[in-house]
Amino acid sequence: VIDVSGLTKEFGRTVALQGASLTVARGEIVVLLGLSGSGKSTLLRHLDGLETPTSGSVRVLGQEVPRLTGRRLRALRSRMGFVFQQFDLVPSLTVLENVLTGALSELRGPRIGLWSYPKRLKLTALGHLDRVGLLDRAYQRADTLSGGQQQRVAIARALMQDPEILLADEPVASLDPESSEQVMSLIREIAMDEGLTVVCSLHQVDLALSWGDRIVGLRHGEVVLDTPAEGLSKAEVMEIYGRVATST
Ligand code: ATP
Ligand code: MG
Repeated sequence: VIDVSGLTKEFGRTVALQGASLTVARGEIVVLLGLSGSGKSTLLRHLDGLETPTSGSVRVLGQEVPRLTGRRLRALRSRMGFVFQQFDLVPSLTVLENVLTGALSELRGPRIGLWSYPKRLKLTALGHLDRVGLLDRAYQRADTLSGGQQQRVAIARALMQDPEILLADEPVASLDPESSEQVMSLIREIAMDEGLTVVCSLHQVDLALSWGDRIVGLRHGEVVLDTPAEGLSKAEVMEIYGRVATST
């Protein structure tokens, strides 16, 4: 469902991605690992059309993403869900309203107040909140939740469009270890149940190894590791990190 090949992205003189290639099959759970600045976010941003490649090809769900514009790009994006490090919930809105904003592309135009959403969508949103274990928080303001809870709301929001692919950019970078584990296992559980394809960047090597099916390591914008997580040791991964340290 994802086929990136020879992807290069330059920002002025900075080479963020250098001939990166990555193929992901339906239902796979892939972790992107790499030091800060290695190109993880840039790669993810190409998958949803937020960046245009300098060269190379980015195919998602059978379509060449950089060629899409307007309605066709929105149609492709509506088949993907996104979760980021900053949960970017609207703090003053209720949890339920935040989840509902995930369906905005379906609604055409902004909505103000819970009453303005169709009942069908509200029921779907409540179902997703139940799924992430936060049904009892639906009418609470988003900014009264803990970080881990807010990220679970962001996951529920990402599910609103019934995505086929979930892209997550360091979803647990601002969480403590215990909430990180919780959020990651929730993502995996949902992915397995729904047959979702997941590409997720992480910093924590241990978590990546226990969580992912496959590990893709980036270094200076190049894919330097692409292997099943099973049987891979932390030492092997750290060696790649180590080489980064000595080569710079
Ligand atoms: P982190 O772990 O810190 O999130 P990352 O692996 O996600 O890092 P990227 O954000 O993809 O790394 O950045 C890769 C390189 O591209 C960095 O050198 C960064 O400074 C550069 N870069 C990314 N976006 C831009 C931009 N919009 N303009 C200029 N340079 C950029
Ligand atoms: Mg990043």
